[in-house]
Amino acid sequence: MKKHNFYAGPSILPEITLEKTAEAIHDFAGTGISLMSISHRSKEFVAVMDEAQQLFKDLLNIPEGYSVLFLGGGASTQFAMIPYNLLSTKAAYLNTGAWSTKAIKEAKLFGKVDVVASSEDKNFSYIPKGYSIPEDADYFHITTNNTIYGSEIKYDMDSPVPLIADMSSDILSRPVDVSKYALIYGGAQKNLAPAGVAFVIIRDDILGKVDRAIPTMLNYQTHISKGSMFNTPPVFAVFALLQTLRWLKDLGGVDAMHRINEKKAALLYDEIERNSFFKGTVNAEDRSIMNVCFVMKSGMEAKEKAFLDFATEKGMVGIKGHRSVGGFRASLYNALPMESVEALVACMRQFESANK
Ligand SMILES: *Cc1c(COP(=O)(O)O)cnc(C)c1O
Repeated sequence: MKKHNFYAGPSILPEITLEKTAEAIHDFAGTGISLMSISHRSKEFVAVMDEAQQLFKDLLNIPEGYSVLFLGGGASTQFAMIPYNLLSTKAAYLNTGAWSTKAIKEAKLFGKVDVVASSEDKNFSYIPKGYSIPEDADYFHITTNNTIYGSEIKYDMDSPVPLIADMSSDILSRPVDVSKYALIYGGAQKNLAPAGVAFVIIRDDILGKVDRAIPTMLNYQTHISKGSMFNTPPVFAVFALLQTLRWLKDLGGVDAMHRINEKKAALLYDEIERNSFFKGTVNAEDRSIMNVCFVMKSGMEAKEKAFLDFATEKGMVGIKGHRSVGGFRASLYNALPMESVEALVACMRQFESANK
């Protein structure tokens, strides 16, 4: 039976990414050697790194003055690297979920943290609005897409201080005005690649302003000056990431991708609203187009397991909600085809008529 992969991360990747990567495991770029066994300094791999950085810049229209890095350690290492490199006295953070909370915890190790607003009072079911960003902060940090709670900041905001965004789970799902950000980062395992690589888009001129000594590997300058090849980069994950970027370019880039993503999300949210068994968990205007969270309507909670079993039987994989929200979560990342959303919607309808 066909499986429909709604996992939140690691998650679905384009078929072509899997095919090309599988091929390269046996014979990388016609070298007769495995991608896993070739020097990262070989001209074949250097070409992969160069093309991946260039395509990332092209797809997101990244202006001059920014570097693109591919680093190990996941998005979670960035939670510490950001304040290590950029926090002198005070940083401002917006708390919109579990990942923001973790980023805040790390920043507090390096200086004062001003949490300008938080949606924790309503279990992170909305994006705070109407707060002001302190002008004396070294930077302002946001999480654009809250993978666990299913809310998303879908616009590029103005900030009086350097704006930093964790885009782990919505990178390349929509066009972004990179010039509004000083730094954008994320783990690649949600929308781009297998686990093992984090991407960092950084405006070079924000560095060099803190007094503390920074360990070599945790210093952005190290990686910028060596083109992300200071030490052995995550070769395998970067190769797979390049295949996904090529796929995205062939498909028409982020504008085309965004239109498809909006259609997929609308199809599922419409069904959640129509169906007499389910309800969404996030404010309509703040709903994520990547991670769709929903629960049983009140009074129907006892049917939760029945729906999960029913959906599993029909080939739906990974739709169990995170324990902090409960219910269900369907992740509709770039590589998830419309057909899978249609299958889930059909499943919800069948469940409704079977249980009337
Ligand atoms: C998954 C995720 C992370 C953590 O990424 P790791 O690469 O596992 O460290 C951080 N932020 C967001 C928004 C995420 O979705």
